[in-house]
Amino acid sequence: MNMETDIKQPAERQPYDVIVVGAGAAGMMAAGTAARSGKRVLLLEKMEKSGRKVRISGKGRCNVTNARPPEEFARQIRTNAEFFAPAFAEFNNRATIRFFERQGVKLDIERGERVFPRSGKAWDIANALLEYCVDNGVRIMYDTRVTAVLTLGSRVYGVRYRNKRGFERKEECERVILTTGGVSYPATGSTGDGYAFAADLGHTIESLRPSLTPLVTSHPQMKFLHGLLLRNVRAVLYVDNEAVREEFGELGFSERGIEGAVALRVSRDAVDALIEQKRVKLVVDLKPALTEEILRERIARERAEMEPTEFFGELLRKLVPKALVMPLAQEVDIHSKNYLSKLTDAEVDRLIRTLKGLTFPITDYAPFEFAVTTAGGVRCDEVNPYTMESRKVQGLYFAGEVLDLDANTGGYNLQIAFSTGRLAGMLKK
Ligand SMILES: Cc1cc2nc3c(=O)[nH]c(=O)nc-3n(C[C@H](O)[C@H](O)[C@H](O)COP(=O)(O)OP(=O)(O)OC[C@H]3O[C@@H](n4cnc5c(N)ncnc54)[C@H](O)[C@@H]3O)c2cc1C
Repeated sequence: MNMETDIKQPAERQPYDVIVVGAGAAGMMAAGTAARSGKRVLLLEKMEKSGRKVRISGKGRCNVTNARPPEEFARQIRTNAEFFAPAFAEFNNRATIRFFERQGVKLDIERGERVFPRSGKAWDIANALLEYCVDNGVRIMYDTRVTAVLTLGSRVYGVRYRNKRGFERKEECERVILTTGGVSYPATGSTGDGYAFAADLGHTIESLRPSLTPLVTSHPQMKFLHGLLLRNVRAVLYVDNEAVREEFGELGFSERGIEGAVALRVSRDAVDALIEQKRVKLVVDLKPALTEEILRERIARERAEMEPTEFFGELLRKLVPKALVMPLAQEVDIHSKNYLSKLTDAEVDRLIRTLKGLTFPITDYAPFEFAVTTAGGVRCDEVNPYTMESRKVQGLYFAGEVLDLDANTGGYNLQIAFSTGRLAGMLKK
């Protein structure tokens, strides 16, 4: 009997071709893409499940991308749009729509060309990404936090991680894709670990700032506005008295500050200006469809139809939502119980000026906990835009929010994650 051939040798475990760190939007796209081309892929996620941020995105509905044409799409990218272009060319918004429809998720295009799952459930998007990984054979380990990316000279040779039971382990691999996200909404798992790894490996991290974040105002009426949502308003952001951005749409008020699509979109410039200690204000036109003259006629018409003994507050009620009546009366400095018959021309002028230019001094911004994205991150000129590979460390790739790439609201940030994730997962050299 030949002992050597009869004793069963433990099967030698095949090494992985690539390790992906972080099972968010970019990580799942990268891992699934690599596995689909036959690569052995290990996906490490520190949370107990994948895609926690995707699952809460778009107020639980997930604005998965935007259907605008490419030139318009590029204009919505706030930093490094040129760097993003090759990734977008490889996997653009149309490809994203096709991808999810192929994964069995029906999509609808809504106002502003924003694309959502027809089910209205962000979970369908996260689950479709997860299925893409599982169906293509990605091995996923949850509750597993990567603690270091290992290098030998300027080449990657693996990662160190802490597993579910709290043990430190090492996994060797020649390629690592970092998709650890930013630092916004840290409860979803994105706590900025990737920035630390990248910095340790010699990458420059552009300063991190909250973006798409509520704006804090010192306006004395703010506390009375909580819960108010204004639709179809125009807002102009002023920095040191110069108009720098104009937006149209929804504005909301909460204990966090001024939010809603309009405030979030201007927040990117507001945050940078506040950091530079500039004076910032948001001037809101509550009646953008009416010129001052037409508004004056409208007010005159309303007054003509009212009794002279009715109150100023009742006139306001015809012009603005109920929650805004008292704060607006305070703002124009006319008591809401003043008789309409006593309203002077100068007071009407003041009312018109306020309706066309309600001014909120902006003194601060909400922290990362409430920011939709992180501005700043791994400097893009240190990464090859055609491969997503680091120019400093061979075998190290980046994708998603960890990069210094961010965009407006409207589905653009997830598209950044999908395009860069797809390109990184192709493991081009
Ligand atoms: C409330 C909210 C709503 C949003 N809505 C939209 C929207 O509707 N449309 C849109 O386009 N964008 C939206 N965004 C932005 C979008 O969700 C993000 O830009 C996108 O998820 C970034 O993808 P990512 O894969 O780079 O990072 P993430 O999705 O944040 O994924 C990073 C993953 O890495 C894991 N991780 C981190 N460190 C480690 C580590 N050391 N080891 C292992 N795993 C690690 C994290 O747990 C996480 O799972 C929203 C964001 C928020 C906060």
